[in-house]
Amino acid sequence: MLIRPDHRGRFGAFGGRYVPETLIPALEELDRQFERAWADSHFREEYAHYLSEYVGRPSPITEARKLSAQTGLHVVVKREDLNHTGAHKINNALGQCLLALRMGKKRIIAETGAGQHGVATATVCALFGLECEVYMGVEDIARQQLNVFRMKLLGAKVNPVSSGTKTLKDALNEAMRDWVTNVGDTHYIIGSVAGPHPYPYMVREFQRVIGDEARAQYLDRYGRLPDVGIACVGGGSNAMGLFSAFVPDADVRLIGVEAGGLGLETGKHAAPLTAGSPGVLHGSYSYLMQDEDGQILGTHSVSAGLDYPGVGAEHSYLKDIGRVEYIAITDDEALAAFRWVAREEGLIPAFESAHAFAPLHDRKLLPAGTRVLVNMSGRGDKDMETAARLLDL
Ligand SMILES: *Cc1c(COP(=O)(O)O)cnc(C)c1O
Repeated sequence: MLIRPDHRGRFGAFGGRYVPETLIPALEELDRQFERAWADSHFREEYAHYLSEYVGRPSPITEARKLSAQTGLHVVVKREDLNHTGAHKINNALGQCLLALRMGKKRIIAETGAGQHGVATATVCALFGLECEVYMGVEDIARQQLNVFRMKLLGAKVNPVSSGTKTLKDALNEAMRDWVTNVGDTHYIIGSVAGPHPYPYMVREFQRVIGDEARAQYLDRYGRLPDVGIACVGGGSNAMGLFSAFVPDADVRLIGVEAGGLGLETGKHAAPLTAGSPGVLHGSYSYLMQDEDGQILGTHSVSAGLDYPGVGAEHSYLKDIGRVEYIAITDDEALAAFRWVAREEGLIPAFESAHAFAPLHDRKLLPAGTRVLVNMSGRGDKDMETAARLLDL
């Protein structure tokens, strides 16, 4: 059965709405409007129309023959890298933009870390003629200049955030502050299954197209389901998108891969499910990286899209009920997988997605003969500069 949050917006103990009082009516209204739209066949058709003619869906599944031969597994890849703008993020940005139009909002705000969500949001805002402002830490602006330029070219305003660690979590705080002030005419597009209810549920529903497609494509081609589904987990949206279609299939193992950074023992990682504890961050109760006093810890990952101290509430629930296994992969293991997949299959994964390929070498986790479906959440073009610096070819 498909999991739904309860009437308080919780998946088990996780989720909820830990936000300033002024935002509660806006979140309740968003919840109502989303439920109404999602039950409306016209809205569904409109969403499907743009997914098809603008984003380029359905994305195919690709059998990775050389990875299979070298690992003794049967490896199939879901190709979210082929979407317009190069990753799964546009599925959600498009859905929320259509919802904002339906709600009569004129202005869109978003937060971004690496810039991928900012680019996806700026893209759909250009398409629909909506005003767009993106909050981004000055640290990230310096690291991701190409994406900053892309957003500007697409007509978005990029607002530098210089508080805190000057990265994604601070950009999220600023975007939330903007929303409190401008909630009348503004919709806030959160980029993952994080944040207060209804975002974790709504974003999952907009990303569910990944798993719904992949499940049908796999059944159609192989006449059965895979043994295992694997996806990387930052905030957790591409993973929830894949997993949600398979959660009711008790025989399909699901594995979420977090960023192990320099190694869990060093503390320099972004693996709240593997090495964190529950607490409140960005309006939601979920696993996160904190010290004994509840202070949010600094994170590290070679992959900017996984470099976040929190994670979506539904993942915390799926961990606690034991439906999904969560593991961590180090920067070095991810880079080795990045190189391996490029060389052997001609597919250059995003650093984030490389984390989902890395466990294919682990025979304890995946015994020979296992049929694995890997979600390639995005392509690696954005990571070329860093890769050229880190890899000696
Ligand atoms: C942003 C991003 C991620 C991480 O976000 P999730 O919400 O965990 O999916 C993963 N892969 C790519 C390619 C991304 O751009």
